[in-house]
Amino acid sequence: MIVSSERLLGPGGAFEPGWVRVDTDRGVITEVGTGEAPDPVDAKGPYVVPGLVDIHCHGGAGASFATTDPDEARTALALHRRHGTTSVVASLVTAAPDDLLRQVETLVPLAREGEIAGVHLEGPWLSPLHRGAHDPELLRPPTRDEIEALLRAAEGHLRMVTIAPELPGALEAITLLREAGVTVAVGHTDCDADGLREAVRAGAGVVTHLCNAMRPIHHRDPGPIPAALAEPELTVELIVDGVHVHPDVVTLLQRGARARVALVTDAMAAAGCPDGAYQLGGLAVSVVDGVARLEDSDALAGSTLTLDRAVRTAHAAGVPLVDAVVAATLTPARALGLDRGALVPGAPADLLVLGEDLVPTSIWREGKLLT
Ligand SMILES: [Zn+2]
Repeated sequence: MIVSSERLLGPGGAFEPGWVRVDTDRGVITEVGTGEAPDPVDAKGPYVVPGLVDIHCHGGAGASFATTDPDEARTALALHRRHGTTSVVASLVTAAPDDLLRQVETLVPLAREGEIAGVHLEGPWLSPLHRGAHDPELLRPPTRDEIEALLRAAEGHLRMVTIAPELPGALEAITLLREAGVTVAVGHTDCDADGLREAVRAGAGVVTHLCNAMRPIHHRDPGPIPAALAEPELTVELIVDGVHVHPDVVTLLQRGARARVALVTDAMAAAGCPDGAYQLGGLAVSVVDGVARLEDSDALAGSTLTLDRAVRTAHAAGVPLVDAVVAATLTPARALGLDRGALVPGAPADLLVLGEDLVPTSIWREGKLLT
C-alpha cells in the first residue's frame, strides 16, 4: 500500500510532497520518499502524519483505565484511536495500594498484546499541596516495598511514574525506578528550581503537565517551571485544551522548550462524551462545557481532550503545525523509548491522513485501516 500527500511529515522533519509504502501483512513502513510516488497510490490526502502518541491518558467514552474490567479499558482505548491516537499509555490516578495493584494487573495483558503502550502511575507519591484531582487521603511517600510490588505486578510494562521529588524517599525512588527502566516524571509537586534539578540529576526525564499542579512561576520565586525549560534533556508535557494553560503561555513555553514539548490529553472518562457527572479515581467530577472539575473544590480534574484536538488547539494558539504534530508524535514517543511517532522505514505503520481542517479522516495502526 502507498499513501501520499502534498504535505507529508517524513524523516526530513518538514511538510513536503511525499509518500509512504506500507507492508500491510507485517504492519510496518518499508519505504518513505519525497516527490511523486513511484507506483499507483492507494490513499492520499491534504496531510499525512505519524499516528499520535499520548503518554498521559486516563480514559474516554465514559470508561476509565483505572478498572479491573479489561473491556472498560478497551472502550477508552477505542475512543482515542478513533481520534488518531495509535499509541496510548494508560494512566492511573492515586488509589489504595491493593486497588492500584489490581488495576495494574488488569492492564498488563493489554500491554502484552500491544494494545496499550504501557502503564503510567500518576500517584500516589504526590504533594498534598498540589494534589489536583487526587484523593488527599491516599497520597503517601514512596517506599521500596510498594515500588517493588508495583514493578512485579506490571511485568515490565510500567512505562512512567509521576513523583513529587520533595517527598521523603523520593530521590531514592527515582533511582530505583530508573534502574527498572521506568521513565520518571516530576509532577504534582511543590519543589523549587533546585528541587527540580536534583530530580533530573537523580534520573527524572519528564515533567507531568507543566504548569498544572505545581508551584507557579513568579519572577522573584521562579519555582520549577523555568528550571524545567532550561534542562536540555527534559521532556515537558502540556495539556493544550484552551483551559489548562492559556494560549499565550502555550506559545511562550513552546518557544522555550521547542522539540521537548509533549502534548498530552490527561483525558478522563468524559472525553468523547456529553457534559454531566463522572468519576476520577473515586472522586466526583462534573463536566460543564467540556471542562472537568472536582465537584467539591473546583480543581481541574483531567480534561476531555483527544490528542488530535490538542494539535489543532496548539496550532490555533500560534504553534507552527509541524511543531504541534511532532509534540504529539515523536517527542512523547522518544521520552518513553517507544519505537513510534515517525514515518521512517522499519517503524510500525501508524499513520493518519488529516483533512484541511486537521481532523483525521483515515487512521492506520500497524498497517490496518481503523477508519
Ligand atoms: Zn493525569
